[in-house]
Amino acid sequence: MLFRSTQPDRMPVSYKEAILNGMPPEGGLYVLDSVMDMRHFFLYMDSETTFRELISAISPILLQGELNPLSAASVAESAFDFEPELRQLDERYSILTLYNGPTGVFKDFGIAYIAALMEEFAPGDKKIMVVSAARSDTGASLAHAFHQRKNIISVILYPSGVIRGLDEKTFVENGGNIIPIQIDGVFDDCQRLVMEIMKDRDFVGRYNLTTANAINVGRLLPQTFYYLYAFIKVKKWLSGDLQFSVPCGNFGNLIAGLYAWKFGMPVNGFIAAMNANNAFANFFSEKAFTTKRRISTISPALDVCFPSNYERLLSFYNEAPLVMRNMVFPQSIDDEITRKTMKDVWKKHNIILDSHTAVAFAAAKQNAETSGDECHTIILATEHPAKQAPLVFDTLGQMAPIPEKLSLLKKECKPTACISPQIDTLESAIASCF
Ligand SMILES: *Cc1c(COP(=O)(O)O)cnc(C)c1O
Repeated sequence: MLFRSTQPDRMPVSYKEAILNGMPPEGGLYVLDSVMDMRHFFLYMDSETTFRELISAISPILLQGELNPLSAASVAESAFDFEPELRQLDERYSILTLYNGPTGVFKDFGIAYIAALMEEFAPGDKKIMVVSAARSDTGASLAHAFHQRKNIISVILYPSGVIRGLDEKTFVENGGNIIPIQIDGVFDDCQRLVMEIMKDRDFVGRYNLTTANAINVGRLLPQTFYYLYAFIKVKKWLSGDLQFSVPCGNFGNLIAGLYAWKFGMPVNGFIAAMNANNAFANFFSEKAFTTKRRISTISPALDVCFPSNYERLLSFYNEAPLVMRNMVFPQSIDDEITRKTMKDVWKKHNIILDSHTAVAFAAAKQNAETSGDECHTIILATEHPAKQAPLVFDTLGQMAPIPEKLSLLKKECKPTACISPQIDTLESAIASCF
């Protein structure tokens, strides 16, 4: 499997190089360049295969020459003490639960695996530094995944506001390897600072720098694993066509699905489920895109008007325009229908959905109505409903039970430093930790 930059005429690189670089030195983003057809490797797997077994079997083949079967198994083991869960609701719909990780969001999958793989790939003679921007519980997910990883320092940049869910024992000043730094600004300032330092080749070289933000294509591979996992769970009883419905914000999850298709997963389409922020709906049919103003909705993770994966989608489009037009179905769902869907699913199936998953569910139904397609649709459930306790209670009159690990995320903590959003202040804040 090789990756290349979205910038033209660059040499393809290995996965290891793509992960450790974070982004191509000359700018752009890494995208999947070439991959072998993996069909015969996962077609023999069955519903008894566990998530870790699937990864242990598939990743050394994908990463031939980079990851041997023994290391692949130990990386899968050290990354995942949680796994996705597929629940069939009826003939038409299943739900793929992706919120069993430490912070109750599907992003735990990409972060857990990239951390374990970076440890495996770290050179050994020099520490690598992973700088990532974080908001809400992503910081806790990063800290959890990177804590005690050998030869890695994880710097987490937070916007202004309260920081929660980190354990101070894991901080560098207490002998750990985590450095939370608060930036005087909003999340976009943190992200801009990450981009700025990733482009500063001196800085990158001095610290062996990379990032675990979604600009790192390393986050996408582990997300392809759960699509394949869902496929092996349904393939025994599935008679007709198969689709996935994906709640889309920055479109990383959708791209992972398209990559799984490139690996050879038999699938008929992907529903790109959006809320009122549907600036991207036209893109799939016409490759045209104009940003709109951001609208606040009850599914905030989907409130994105300029998706950070735009370049990756465009690159995929240029490579396979017919796939984009004929296999990706955009649907937009408003808040009212989102709430109605939460209620319907609760009444009919006794399952509490968070609002993002409800958008995907409603989008799947809307797509079936408009297209007349009768395929089985797997809905990606991206967030634990307990994380939206007030909304869930307000909509359903029900409390979603809170698992113990999620209640720990509420604990406040102090960052190691509070700085203005500039490279040199960031560098001195990092240097003063050692
Ligand atoms: C991040 C997030 C999304 C959007 O995922 P993308 O890969 O950015 O499209 C959807 N749902 C939840 C709960 C999220 O946190």
